[in-house]
Amino acid sequence: MLYQRSSALFAEAEQVIPGGVNSPVRAFKGVGGTPIFAKRAKGAYVFDEDGNRFVDYINSWGPMVLGHAFEPVITAITERAQLGTSFGMPTALETKIAQLAVSMVPNIDKIRFVNSGTEACMSAIRLARGYTKRDKIIKFAGCYHGHSDSFLIQAGSGASTFGTPNSPGVTQGTAKDTLLANYNDIESVQRLFEANKEEIAAIIIEPVAGNMGCVPPIDGFLNQLRAACDANGTLLIFDEVMTGFRLAKGGAQELYGIKADIVCFGKVIGGGLPVGAFAARNEIMNYLAPLGPVYQAGTLSGNPLAMAAGLAMLEALNNDTAVFDRLNEKTAYLENGIREVLEANNIVYTINRVGSMISVHFDSSPVVDFQTAKNGDNDIFKTFFHGLLREGVYIAPSAYETWFITDALTYEDLDFTIAAVNNVVKHF
Ligand SMILES: *Cc1c(COP(=O)(O)O)cnc(C)c1O
Repeated sequence: MLYQRSSALFAEAEQVIPGGVNSPVRAFKGVGGTPIFAKRAKGAYVFDEDGNRFVDYINSWGPMVLGHAFEPVITAITERAQLGTSFGMPTALETKIAQLAVSMVPNIDKIRFVNSGTEACMSAIRLARGYTKRDKIIKFAGCYHGHSDSFLIQAGSGASTFGTPNSPGVTQGTAKDTLLANYNDIESVQRLFEANKEEIAAIIIEPVAGNMGCVPPIDGFLNQLRAACDANGTLLIFDEVMTGFRLAKGGAQELYGIKADIVCFGKVIGGGLPVGAFAARNEIMNYLAPLGPVYQAGTLSGNPLAMAAGLAMLEALNNDTAVFDRLNEKTAYLENGIREVLEANNIVYTINRVGSMISVHFDSSPVVDFQTAKNGDNDIFKTFFHGLLREGVYIAPSAYETWFITDALTYEDLDFTIAAVNNVVKHF
């Protein structure tokens, strides 16, 4: 495939946008080469500026669970735009999507809309701190909760229980309030509780991790977290920005039957427009301004175009009772196909999958946390990534990402993808 126009557009972008991109992972740093510029997309396919077609497994990093340019969403946005694009006054539309979200997701009474997953997680943490009157939080290594300061933290050295900044610009003062635990390791959580008695406001977790590849919670882990939170007066925050409205109508809470205290959303809930949200039961949500003392706001929060897109998306997911089963079946079919191909070619691999989240790791040992996720062979991944591109299959340009499966994929597309994997790995 030729990427002449993409290369030229990237060179031009680099002059005026840092690294030529508005979000770093798009820059292909993890895989080498230069990014492909998207021109349009429809259903399961994305078309680039050079006219190449790809079967798309990025899908805007999750939102397009029903495929690109999904008609009801496009119609809703187009119609809504005629009525004005922002008011700074409440609209009936906001209540409508809030009612629907509250009806679909377990254990929430009220929901507040923001503009990104980052904002949702940042606000959820502030609310948890205000509500519990405690400062510290626990996060898990390898989980991503957006780019706000409290989350850009890595494990501290040696005996320290608190983290250190993993980006310049994040202060030590912020880092000392974020404690790092290991995913699927309840003892690492219990040690933090013991060393920080009555100081921990919240545990925040991706109930199925999707930002170190797909890493499912091991049996009982989420239950143990729930129990540890209850024993310590700590709130459990599920960051369902990736899993929400993807794994089930009610997200991971429904799938695993675990009750979270605060739930964060993003990605699918906006139908491809910039939307995030956080939600909880009344007691907690009423702590938020203007009802309560915890401040949180947004000029464009609940924007009518974004709410129209989100509402059309949630309605489609709510009305189609078979959609989550279909997504699961399609992804299972893809998983089995890729397994057969990798085995036939004697490739060392691990595949993790929950519903329509799946990741291929080039390492034979189980991937259960950030440490084991890092064991994967990145050189093989790079070759795999570029090989798939040549075959017309676009997966995320990083070994630490899930593939996002959309219901727009047909079984022919899946067979095409499995054949592409075979064409690539037979040369390994
Ligand atoms: C994508 C993501 C975020 C951040 O959302 P943005 O909209 O990119 O700010 C937060 N948490 C999880 C689990 C995510 O996957």
